[in-house]
Amino acid sequence: MSRPRIVIVGAGFAGYRTARTLSRLARGRAEIVLLNPTDYFLYLPLLPQVAAGILEPRRVTVSLSGTLPHVRLVLGESDRIDLDARQVHYTGPEGEGGTLSYDRLVLAAGSVNKLLPIPGVAEHAHGFRGLPEALYLRDHVTRQVELAAATDDPKTCASRCTFVVVGAGYTGTEVAAHGQLFTDAQVSRHPMRTGMRPRWILLDIADRVLPELDERLSRTADTVLRERGVDVRMGTSVKEATHDGVLLTDGEFVDTKTLVWCVGVRPDPLAESLGLPMERGRLLVDPHLQVPGRPEVFACGDAAAVPDLEKPGSYTPMTAQHAWRQGKVCGHNIAASFGDGERRAYRHKDMGFVVDLGGVKAAANPLGVNLSGVAAGAVTRGYHLAAMPGNRVRVAADWLLDAVLPRQAVQLGLVRSWSVPLDTASPELARVPGRPERGRTEASAAGESAKSGPGGEPATKQAGGGPAGNQPGGEPARNQPGGEPARNQPGGEPAGNQPGGEPAKNQPVGEPAKNQPVGEPAKNQPVGEPAKNQPVGEPAKNQPGGEPAESRPGGGPAGDEPAVTPPPDQPPPGPDVAPGPVRRTDRFTEGDS
Ligand SMILES: Cc1cc2nc3c(=O)[nH]c(=O)nc-3n(C[C@H](O)[C@H](O)[C@H](O)COP(=O)(O)OP(=O)(O)OC[C@H]3O[C@@H](n4cnc5c(N)ncnc54)[C@H](O)[C@@H]3O)c2cc1C
Repeated sequence: MSRPRIVIVGAGFAGYRTARTLSRLARGRAEIVLLNPTDYFLYLPLLPQVAAGILEPRRVTVSLSGTLPHVRLVLGESDRIDLDARQVHYTGPEGEGGTLSYDRLVLAAGSVNKLLPIPGVAEHAHGFRGLPEALYLRDHVTRQVELAAATDDPKTCASRCTFVVVGAGYTGTEVAAHGQLFTDAQVSRHPMRTGMRPRWILLDIADRVLPELDERLSRTADTVLRERGVDVRMGTSVKEATHDGVLLTDGEFVDTKTLVWCVGVRPDPLAESLGLPMERGRLLVDPHLQVPGRPEVFACGDAAAVPDLEKPGSYTPMTAQHAWRQGKVCGHNIAASFGDGERRAYRHKDMGFVVDLGGVKAAANPLGVNLSGVAAGAVTRGYHLAAMPGNRVRVAADWLLDAVLPRQAVQLGLVRSWSVPLDTASPELARVPGRPERGRTEASAAGESAKSGPGGEPATKQAGGGPAGNQPGGEPARNQPGGEPARNQPGGEPAGNQPGGEPAKNQPVGEPAKNQPVGEPAKNQPVGEPAKNQPVGEPAKNQPGGEPAESRPGGGPAGDEPAVTPPPDQPPPGPDVAPGPVRRTDRFTEGDS
């Protein structure tokens, strides 16, 4: 008799823990499949330290195949789940499609940046929800300081040295706190940068920082931020974002090239697509983490609305603490559904919170005991080390190096502004040519135009842009700096032979779709079942993004189509067309903690 298959969608805190728990309980009696777009678990709470150049990006990742040897890893993103057929459809990293049938399904796809309908934000801001955004911010901030140092114009210098963070939840607070230290370190003791004073501004419509946490934590964080020089402005937000800066709700216009969006998160759009009962965008589950009426479907983490048995009538907040513990319960309850043990209800009381403020400072209240200063800093770092499922020695080593060596401020320029749009359903992946985007909102699609200014590239740098607008195959819109993709062009990238351009034919991402009959099993599928029995009209496999070969506005080359070439009047991108900054959102109710 074949083993039952358990498919887990998402390998974050909830999905990773579910897989690990099940792997221990099942001992080979069930096939555990983990579907995730990356081959690593990302320890999100340390992301601000990546953006500040303290931790190298791989430190905050944990290899899935390395730490879950008995779990089958399938690289890809689920774009559709057929609950009646019990099948998960996904798209792999090279555009190939696949299908996984399941006996039990766990939806643990997490959350993405929340957008607010504020003019210009989708175009000019960057979020902070994934590694690409953290790397983008690190590079962007470094570059702004370098450009500021090189200019003779005091106004330009001040604008480049001004960094605006919106949202004073734990993410925004940590980003601003670390950011100020990072930029200060770049100007201090530098003989050519005397007089430069990087300014970080932290905004929130709430009346205090960390509005969802204990007031004493707020006070500690507020004091540290202000002492450090961060301009903390509560009761203030952004009214409009433009190329030159941001207009605040109090009427002031702040000249800046950096707008980091940390105002909250919304659940991954995959949950919404199921057509099941939702609670504020999260998939409603019972205290056993099962979807009512679908006992074979479980959900946990940010994507699920889990009743908070400690606070009847409410749902557990979107925090790593809950997601991690829900994953364990989920694993046990799935085993119980096969007759192995008793199922249990999820119940967890918050054990306090830690907010790392950089240097040796933090605000923490472990088990309700309020700490500040060095003691909080030590507890915070100790907590993170204990909570990480791997890579602890490397993280500790980076902390040690940072304590004794100057911060290394160089920009590698590997993540570009257009590859980390604020509105994306896949913040864990940098956008690449030809890959379609899952679950983007209309606002974001419309906002693809004219991306520049805060967080983007200077408009005058159009020389670096790729192909001109209105070209099939996806090119930057006119007057767009840095080769931003044209409006509504999912695959809009600079043309071939350009840095960051469209992949040439026969390259994995730009694989042509020719000779692929519709419904043919997808070649080179890493795992999963062949995509046979696909209805006619299903996108052909092995195409970038699975778009049909025809009528692909911005996709990669299809069939015999020639690779996109830049129009004759467009110069290739210049060396200064570099990536810009990062993003994310947080608020307890909507995801911050
Ligand atoms: C910068 C930052 C700092 C934070 N700090 C803290 C903190 O200090 N303490 C705290 O408690 N919480 C913190 N949080 C919140 C915490 O990280 C989240 O609540 C937690 O990650 C939720 O876990 P999850 O498993 O639901 O989702 P995630 O950890 O986000 O994991 C979701 C996984 O699903 C994958 N996925 C998404 N869509 C699909 C798809 N369609 N198909 C397949 N896979 C998919 C993603 O790639 C990801 O691997 C922080 C968040 C951020 C962004």
